[in-house]
Amino acid sequence: MLSREDYIRCGIVCGEENAFRFCPRCGEGLSLSKVEGRWRPICPGCSWVHYINPPPVVCAVAYKEEKILLIKRAVEPKEGSWALPGGFMEVGEAPLDACLRELKEETGIASTGEIGLIGVEYQPSRRYGSVVVIGYAIEVLAPEEVRPGDDAKEVGWFKRGDRPKMPFESFERMLRRWEERRDGLTPF
Ligand SMILES: [Zn+2]
Repeated sequence: MLSREDYIRCGIVCGEENAFRFCPRCGEGLSLSKVEGRWRPICPGCSWVHYINPPPVVCAVAYKEEKILLIKRAVEPKEGSWALPGGFMEVGEAPLDACLRELKEETGIASTGEIGLIGVEYQPSRRYGSVVVIGYAIEVLAPEEVRPGDDAKEVGWFKRGDRPKMPFESFERMLRRWEERRDGLTPF
C-alpha cells in the first residue's frame, strides 16, 4: 500500500484522500517503481503507470480601462482572498474557452472586447504537486453584467496601483506582466 511518503518521492504532497492506493483499471494495490527516471506509482497486476501531470488552470486579467476585476474566493485554497477569476480546464475545452467560461461563471461577464495571451506560469500546489497557469488579458465591454457566481463571494473593481496582492505567486506574476505591458515596459 502506497504511503504519503511514497507520494512525496513522486513529487506530490497530497492529502490521504487524494492519493491513489489501488489501480483504477484493475483494482490491484499500487506499488512504487522507477519508470523513465522518476519514482511513479505502478500497478503490479496490469502494469498501469500513474503519471502525475500538473493540471492546467486558466485565469483572466479582466479589465476596463485602468481597472481590473477581481473575485473574493469562496473556495479553498485561499478562501476569502481577492484573486483573478479562473479555474481548471475541462477535457475537450480550448484554454481560451475555459477562461471565458470561468470568467462568466464567477463574474457574470460575457461581453468581451480585446483578448490577448499574457503568458504561462508555474504554481506549486500541495494537492497536485504543481499546476500550469495560463493567463489571458480580457477587455470587459459591459461592466453592468457583473454579479458574483460560482466560487466567488464578491466581485470588485480595483484601480491599478491600489489592488490587493494576489494569494498565488503565479497570479501575482501574471498580473504584473499585464501591468508592465500596459505601461509599455514590455511589448505584447
Ligand atoms: Zn492494474
